[in-house]
Amino acid sequence: MSLQQIRHWVFDMDGTLTVAVHDFAAIREALEIPPQADILTHLAALPATEAAAKHAWLLEHERDLALASRAAPGAVELVRELASRGCSLGILTRNARELAHVTLQAIGLADCFAVEHVLGRDDAPPKPHPGGLLQLAHAWGVAPAEMVMVGDYRFDLDCGRAAGTRTVLVNLPDNPWPQLVDWHAADCGVLQGMLGS
Ligand SMILES: [Mg+2]
Repeated sequence: MSLQQIRHWVFDMDGTLTVAVHDFAAIREALEIPPQADILTHLAALPATEAAAKHAWLLEHERDLALASRAAPGAVELVRELASRGCSLGILTRNARELAHVTLQAIGLADCFAVEHVLGRDDAPPKPHPGGLLQLAHAWGVAPAEMVMVGDYRFDLDCGRAAGTRTVLVNLPDNPWPQLVDWHAADCGVLQGMLGS
């Protein structure tokens, strides 16, 4: 299946549709999380009270970031073109769903995504688990092989591979994970160019 033929598109949000602003080192320091640890995995293993307090801190911190979101180069034009072609569009993010909506509002794309097709960290197991993509495949009634996962990080690509979707890497000049990537584009504008007319 060529990229032009794909009608079901799922996007990572932070760093893919937006300019990455999360300072994960600072977040780990504020929440006393070891430098190498995965933040969500670490929080999930804490005692309930401590986990709840740290999740609350994270949500507040991320809300400020979401309100100040800026679109990544070409992201708005790409998503609008896919929407105008009638493609099904979804978001799979490790951010909270309500913040995904704040972010989509801030970059002017909220009208392109159905609310139920924006999956945050409470709606699906966090990437690289394939659960979120499989959920969208089910909702759309298509095989994962007819979908593409677009992201800027290896979790997005691993998630796509695990679910059996195609994968696109954007916003990295090089492609460090060629075995995980079906298409690589320097940014969403370049990706739009690859759609043809
Ligand atoms: Mg990302």
